[in-house]
Amino acid sequence: MNKANQNLLHPFRLVGANLDAWFAAGGGKGLEAALAEPDNIVAKLQDAGLCGMGGAGFPTWRKWEAAVAAQSKNGSKYVVCNANEDEPGTFKDRFLLAKTPHQVIEGVLIAAVACRADQAVLYVNPHQHDSLASVAPAIEQWRASALYAQIEAYLGKPLNLQLVESSGRYIGGEETAVISWLDGGFPFPRRKPPYPAESGVNGEPTLINNTETFANIPQILANGTEWYRSLGLGDAPGTKLYSLSGDVLNPGLYELPMGTTLKSLIFDHGGGMLEGRRFKAVFTGGPSNTLLTAKDLDVPLDFVSVRERKSSLGTGAMIVISEGTSVVRKVAEYVEFFATNSCGQCPPCKGGTFQLSRLLNRVDNGIGTQDDLNALQSLCTLLPRSGRCGLIDGAVTVLQSSLRTFPEEYGLGADRPSESGTNA
Ligand code: SF4
Repeated sequence: MNKANQNLLHPFRLVGANLDAWFAAGGGKGLEAALAEPDNIVAKLQDAGLCGMGGAGFPTWRKWEAAVAAQSKNGSKYVVCNANEDEPGTFKDRFLLAKTPHQVIEGVLIAAVACRADQAVLYVNPHQHDSLASVAPAIEQWRASALYAQIEAYLGKPLNLQLVESSGRYIGGEETAVISWLDGGFPFPRRKPPYPAESGVNGEPTLINNTETFANIPQILANGTEWYRSLGLGDAPGTKLYSLSGDVLNPGLYELPMGTTLKSLIFDHGGGMLEGRRFKAVFTGGPSNTLLTAKDLDVPLDFVSVRERKSSLGTGAMIVISEGTSVVRKVAEYVEFFATNSCGQCPPCKGGTFQLSRLLNRVDNGIGTQDDLNALQSLCTLLPRSGRCGLIDGAVTVLQSSLRTFPEEYGLGADRPSESGTNA
């Protein structure tokens, strides 16, 4: 059977916020397994090879191991499900929460068991009304369940599972910004270390994972790590949610085996390019990574393989563009997004992203000069790693990638007037 045609981990057709339906479909077994062997949870995640689905692809077990080992200062530990999702082209977490909130919450509860956390937070973007509408009653149902009472008995204290609306700002999804918001402040990112496991919400050990990451956990514990690994292709374990958008016939959210090729995602599942269009490139993992082009269509979409192409799987967003689409325009839009969403703490980021945006718009409008191009390239050298978080690096990465891959669209190599009116 073609695994790619099934919902493998995420039973989207199941039914929103009905806990009994979730149990009837096999839900709850992962949590029962966690309560039966709480000290083995982290080892199982390590065996499964699960990596964070929010962008970085960091091994999940390492975060969990740190949170389990961390000592609380005042008796509390926090588990936070990050559902702030606000990046262009990414629409998986809101779908998970709206369609199968109990699966996500069960993953959060398993984390609370593993870390012995007494605080568990669903941190949800307030603009995603369908997620909020699903999560709020789902939390109430869990709190009234017998399994929830078993967790509290295991912890020896009450578990405070709650929904917190995020600021709704893009930067509010950065994990130190999550902490800042939950502490009652503006969602300003800060430098790491300290990492959240060392000092998170209220200075207490905090485990923060992406929504899709949590959604994988119950299935791994219920069905075993070998089963989970067998879902992927090659060495890649499990499945991935790919948000496919752009110039394809069937844009949408696809759950496919991890390691499905880019070509298969676009042409088999996505139906190929819009009529009369030819494939040009993909903004991979959202708008802050290196572009992939026709020579990369055979790349398996897993963390390792995409990294080997000097790009990133990121959130699994794939924004496809066709011949005739201006790369400069798309990059200008994305850099403007980053400029608008800079929190403004770091002068190089605040001023630098604005400058990049201004220069890109000049080039896109056909009034860019050689001096503008020189300034763009020099900012690409100056700006990386100058901010407290990765926002500025993302803006530079996508720009540099487009300059390298489509230099002719910027007029590089062509004769352009300098500001002073002479050719550089
Ligand atoms: Fe804010 Fe930009 Fe600094 Fe990140 S790099 S903290 S977004 S100013």
